[in-house]
Order: sequence, then structure tokens, then C-alpha cells
Amino acid sequence: VRVCVALYMSAPHIDPPLKRPLQIFAFDPMRGLDARNVITIDVENEPLSPGPQGARVRVVDYDGKEQRYLHPVDLDDPAILMTEGLPPSESDPRFHQQMVYAVTMKVLENFDRALGRRIDFRGKPLLLVPHAFHGTNAYYIPALKGIVFGYFPADSEDPGENVPGQPVFTCLSHDIIAHEVTHALVHRLRQHSLEATNQDVLAFHEGFADIVAIFQHFTFASILRDAIRESRGDLSAHTALAELAAQFGYATGGNGALRSAIDAPDPTGYRTVLEPHARGSILVGAVFEGFFRLYQSRIADLVRLATGGSGVLPPGELPHDLVERLADEAARAAQTVLTMCIRAFEYLPPLDITFGDFLRAMITADRDLLAEEGTEQRRMMIDAFRRRGIYPSGVTSLSEGALCWPPSTVGLNLGDSVGQRIAEVLLRGAEEYGQRRIFQRATAANAAPALQQWAKANAAVLGLSTDVPIEAQGFHATYRVAPSGRLAVEIVAQFVQQQPETEDDPSYGGLRFRGGTTVVATADGVVRFVIAKPLASVDRRNAQLEFVAACDADDPALSFAGDDYFKDRIARLNFRGLHEGNAG
Ligand SMILES: [Zn+2]
Repeated sequence: VRVCVALYMSAPHIDPPLKRPLQIFAFDPMRGLDARNVITIDVENEPLSPGPQGARVRVVDYDGKEQRYLHPVDLDDPAILMTEGLPPSESDPRFHQQMVYAVTMKVLENFDRALGRRIDFRGKPLLLVPHAFHGTNAYYIPALKGIVFGYFPADSEDPGENVPGQPVFTCLSHDIIAHEVTHALVHRLRQHSLEATNQDVLAFHEGFADIVAIFQHFTFASILRDAIRESRGDLSAHTALAELAAQFGYATGGNGALRSAIDAPDPTGYRTVLEPHARGSILVGAVFEGFFRLYQSRIADLVRLATGGSGVLPPGELPHDLVERLADEAARAAQTVLTMCIRAFEYLPPLDITFGDFLRAMITADRDLLAEEGTEQRRMMIDAFRRRGIYPSGVTSLSEGALCWPPSTVGLNLGDSVGQRIAEVLLRGAEEYGQRRIFQRATAANAAPALQQWAKANAAVLGLSTDVPIEAQGFHATYRVAPSGRLAVEIVAQFVQQQPETEDDPSYGGLRFRGGTTVVATADGVVRFVIAKPLASVDRRNAQLEFVAACDADDPALSFAGDDYFKDRIARLNFRGLHEGNAG
């Protein structure tokens, strides 16, 4: 008896599972509840209050049209835990809350993984309001640090696949959720990324948000199977996958835009298209083509095996096993591309981002971590950008070596005066990385004075101006595992400078002229890259003024609008403006 009691007393502790499975609609509710439209995704398991409200995401279901709060779902309810979340339902708002939470958590996971650190919203969770208003769109509101989703009745004349008048919920679209959350994350990582200082800034926001939405969707292998089965006989055709991407409904103009972007990329588009969504779709087309070529090269051996070396598949259905393997490869290639695109962020300048900067950052980040293992994917990406005429300014060729940011050779060391702060930021990063905990952001704030002093002392090498204050806007450690198993640790700091008086100068349209530098250093503080947009650059200043002039020439409102409009006409270009009327 004593033995039994002892055993009972020492019942082993059971760790909570790392993942929480939750059901979502794979496409959108119009497809119904058949198995293809319902998938279960795993998100990080964290303690949740009803809402759901977790450490980084807070769902508040206030129905703005009805002016009332809807009952919040409790995802820790045992009945819900046993069924992988609530089953998909258009009519149960608690499922809507679950879906926005699950998809948002998945986007965060993809950013965490690629960046090698845990992204939070500076201590305050991202707010998600699934039934915020009556309308056909959804958008991120920077001041609210939140995303509001609209709902609307289907068209009574032309309802498509809906019943006329039936409500359509933007919060039930994976791609709309992922797109808007990406806007919030890009803004979190680059706080000046909403300032249209060149023609690419807002287009990059839009294109990048679509890229995350599409490629996150493609990482769910089960949804790729049908598209791959239907593409049978011609696995070299990207039609099926591009079609699938377009069907997600959110991708860049829908209806074949993506397909034609791949079939016949127009190299003049990058020079002539200015509207941010259309321009962003050029970026999406480039990345999609890079993905497709990578997928093709990864399945080449499978196709040879399946065809006895001829490359020509026998008539009839593709064998089930082959479809499964192809879908897995497509999902894996999608994860590669998604990670590659997000990882670029550590190597982007703090502001005034162009597509060319993005290409250079992506190639540098990938080569830094993967070395030769990534040669193929980098070559395909470079080629896809080249076919669209996306050349970074100031590079002599589009070879990988020329595209990478030049390594810093002046032997600068962050550790000289920032040493203690580096130790703190490494420790904090390591604990977040290892234990998935959120720490107070005190360390980064503590480090600011030392960083600013250091930047001032080294201004010339960093592309900063000594006569204008330097603001340290970010300081963190990243932890990534290289293919060799090596843990790659880096310190990244961002510095920004501005000329406040330019805000009142009408030729800047209400924005300030800013400059800034991203510094990437080793864990020992040795500076490896200095990625600068100098405040002192006359070319940059002229380019910004020319961009404002081009916007003015294109702005029909300018001749009628009053002084208020004129004063901040460029500062006004943001998501709300972009998204009005087009659910973009
Ligand atoms: Zn958008």
C-alpha cells in the first residue's frame, strides 16, 4: 500500500504541449465545409484568456455596426481543446475570433523563425477587431496598433457564389488576415515604412504583405494537392499554382494578374507603374517566379523517377504518392521563399526602402546564413527580379557578389563603448529564443545613449551626419541556425536622423527628410555591414523631391483642394487611403 501511495504522490508532471491545433477555413467560406476547405494549423501554445487574448495578440469583438460586444471564445475550454478549436462556421462569431487569432499567430511564428528572435509589439499586444465595421475592406490602423475587419452583405444583383444579401466577412479570409498582420509587422520593424519617400515604399508594403499571405498559404501542403493533381501531364506549367495563388482572392488584382506576371513579365512596369498595389504586384510576380523555378528544380529528380527518365508522365491520373511528394516539395519551397523574404529585414536600411534594397538585403541575408547551400535559390530570385527590370541603383552587375551589401572593412567595433549593453541584449535575446518569454524592453532603451554616442563618434563611417542628432531606433540580437548546425548570432542596430524643418517645406508634402543606417555586427560587436541612407546625400534629397513632384503631377485633387490638403498631401498617402474601396 505504501508503494502505491508513493507512486501516486510522485505522479510525473506533464509539460503543456508546445502547439495548439486550431481549425481554419483554407480558402474562404464560399467553398463550403468540404474537407478541402477546412484545415487544422498548429500555433504556439500560450495561456489564453477569452477573446482570445494572449501575450502578443488580443482579439476584441466589438461589432461597430450593431454597437455591441460579441461573446468572446475561450480556446482553453476543455470541449474546444478536444476538437482542435471550434469547427469552421460562418454563423458563429466565436469561430471568427478563433480564425483571426490562429492566422495571426502563424504569421508571427513565420517572422520569429525567419528573424531568429521573438517579435512583439513593444509590450502591447496587436489588437484584432473581427467585426469592426460595415464595409468591404479591412485595414491596419497604426495609431490603434490594431487591425479592423469589415463585413458586408453580398451583392444582391451579382452575388457570385454567395446567397444575395448574405453577409461576407473579411475576417474569414486567411489572406486578408495575413496581409494586414504583415502591414502591422513591417511597420513594427521599420517605423518610417509608411512614409512615401520614394515610389517603392508603399508598394513594398503592399507587395510584401501579399507575399507573406500567399507563401504562408502555400506552406499548408494539403491545399496544394488538388492544384498539383490538376496540373498533371505538364508539371512545368505554373498555371495551376499561380491560379491557386490568385484564387486566394487577395493576391494582387486576382484574375490572372499573377499568371501573366510570370508568363510575360513586363520590364517596363517597374519604370512606369506607380499605384502602390499595382507596383507591389510586380514584386509579388518576381518572388512567385523565383518560388516556381525553385520548386521545379527541386522536383526534377522526382519527375525523372516517376517517368523512367523521360520526363513525360504517362496518361491518366498522377499516382497518389507522387502527388503527395510534389505537394510536400511545393510547401517546402514556399517555406524557403517565405523565410528568405522575411529574413531580409535585418539587412534593410531603416527607411526609404526600394525594391532594389529588398533584393540586396534578401541575397545578403541568405548568403550569410546558408552560404553555398542557397546558391540555387538566390540565382533564381535574382533572375526573376532581373526579368522585371528591378535593378538596385549603384550595383555594377547582377551577380550575387555584386548584389550583396559590401562587407564593412574598416574594423569598426560596437563593443568599444556599447559592450555592457551588448551582453544584456544577447542575454535577453537568448532567453527569449530559448524560453519563448517576453522580456521588458528596458534593455534596448537603456542602450540608446551608449549607442547614440558610439554612432556619433563613428558618424563618418556609418554614413551619418555629425551636426544633426542621431536616434537609436532598434537594438537586438538574432539567433539563427545555419545548415551546418552552427548557431549564427548577430547584433542589429538602427539609427535615424531627420531634418524637422523640412516638414513645413511644401516641396516635401508634409514629410520630413530623414536619413539612417542599419548596422549588422557579430556577437563580439565587430561591425559586418553598414547599410546607409545618408541624410547628407544630395541625390537622395533630389530623388525625394522628384517623387513628390511626380505625385503632384498625377494628383487630380491638387487643383481643387485647399491648403490643408496641400500641406501634408504626401504624408497622407497611407493605408487608409490606399485601402479605401478596394479591400487592399
Ligand atoms: Zn495592404
